[in-house]
Amino acid sequence: MNIETSKQLFERAQQSIPGGVNSPVRAFKSVGGTPLFIKKAKGAYLYDVDDNKYIDYIASWGPMILGHAYEPVIKAIKEYVEYSTSYGAPTELEIKMAELIKSMVPNVDLIRMVSSGTEACMSAIRVARGYTGKNKIIKFEGCYHGHADSFLVKAGSGVATFNIQTVPGVTAGVSNDTLTCAYNDLAAVEKLIAENKNEIAAIIIEPVAGNMGCILPKPGFLEGLRKICDDEKIVFIFDEVMNGFRLALGGAQEKLKIDADLVTYGKVIGAGMPVGAFGGKKHIMEVVAPLGNVYQAGTLSGNPIAMIAGYTLLSILKEQPQLLKELNDKTIYLKNGLNEVFKSSGKPYVINHFGSMLSIHFSDHEVTDFTTAASANNDLFKKYFHAMLKRGVYLPPSAFESWFLNNALSKEDLDYTITATKESLKEI
Ligand SMILES: *Cc1c(COP(=O)(O)O)cnc(C)c1O
Repeated sequence: MNIETSKQLFERAQQSIPGGVNSPVRAFKSVGGTPLFIKKAKGAYLYDVDDNKYIDYIASWGPMILGHAYEPVIKAIKEYVEYSTSYGAPTELEIKMAELIKSMVPNVDLIRMVSSGTEACMSAIRVARGYTGKNKIIKFEGCYHGHADSFLVKAGSGVATFNIQTVPGVTAGVSNDTLTCAYNDLAAVEKLIAENKNEIAAIIIEPVAGNMGCILPKPGFLEGLRKICDDEKIVFIFDEVMNGFRLALGGAQEKLKIDADLVTYGKVIGAGMPVGAFGGKKHIMEVVAPLGNVYQAGTLSGNPIAMIAGYTLLSILKEQPQLLKELNDKTIYLKNGLNEVFKSSGKPYVINHFGSMLSIHFSDHEVTDFTTAASANNDLFKKYFHAMLKRGVYLPPSAFESWFLNNALSKEDLDYTITATKESLKEI
């Protein structure tokens, strides 16, 4: 495979961009090698600057749920971009977007648009603090809620990939207000709460975690957290930046039948444009300015091009519910196929899967939290990643990231991926 142009661009990029990339995981640091520079994408395929074609299992980390350059979204963007790219004043589109989300997520009464998942999560905890008058929050080891100061404590995704334990640049004061527990460990949460009685403003969680690979909540875990939050007057925040509009139209809340108090969105909600959102129950969201006095703002929030892109995608997902079902069925098909070839390879492996999220850990024990994810064989993962890339399959470049399937993947693509895995496993 010739990747000369990518190599040259990566060299050049490092002269003017920290590490050559604008988001760390893109640098391929944990798997080694040269990150591919992408020229274009269509459907399930990415094309790099050397004209190599790849089957894509990242989907821009989620948003491209119906495939890249999805016609209706591209058409809508083209139409709206003619009107101008931003006004700094309200538009009807923002109302339509909010109404559409409310129609899909029953317990969202009010929702505020922002420009990233990070902004959504940091705003949600500010709201929780303002609403409860308490300061501390609980998050779970290996969960990633964006790069705001409060969340960079035992975070997943790139923070885990690069093994960054404490983050220079975050004050001790901020870090001390973030308490952490192991995912799926309800007793640890109860203990923390007892030790910090009446001090916890919020518990924030990825209901199905995707930033330490894909990790499922054990039965009763989220229910238990819900009860604790009710008993202790803690705001329960679902970070659905990955899960939202992917696991179901109503996200993890619908799929797992649990009501959060606040919910955050990103990724799919913007169809590949920079969009995030936080919303929830009226009595809580009413503290947000200008209605209340918890300040939150954004020059480009509710940007019209971003809104029409997201609105178009979400409308289609709502009008054609079979799309999500097809996507979930494809994921099961892939999982079953991978299971077969992994089993016959004799290598230790765990495939975790929920909806259209999936991940592989080279491990001989269950992967249920960050510790078990981190103890898997990362060296084998690296080799597997490169063996697949060589065969034209683009997987997330870290075992701490989930695969995101998109509905443009054909049965042939999935079969090819299974065969490529079989060959790769022989090689590594
Ligand atoms: C990606 C992600 C974020 C951060 O979103 P950005 O748009 O990258 O700021 C937050 N929470 C979860 C669960 C995510 O996966």
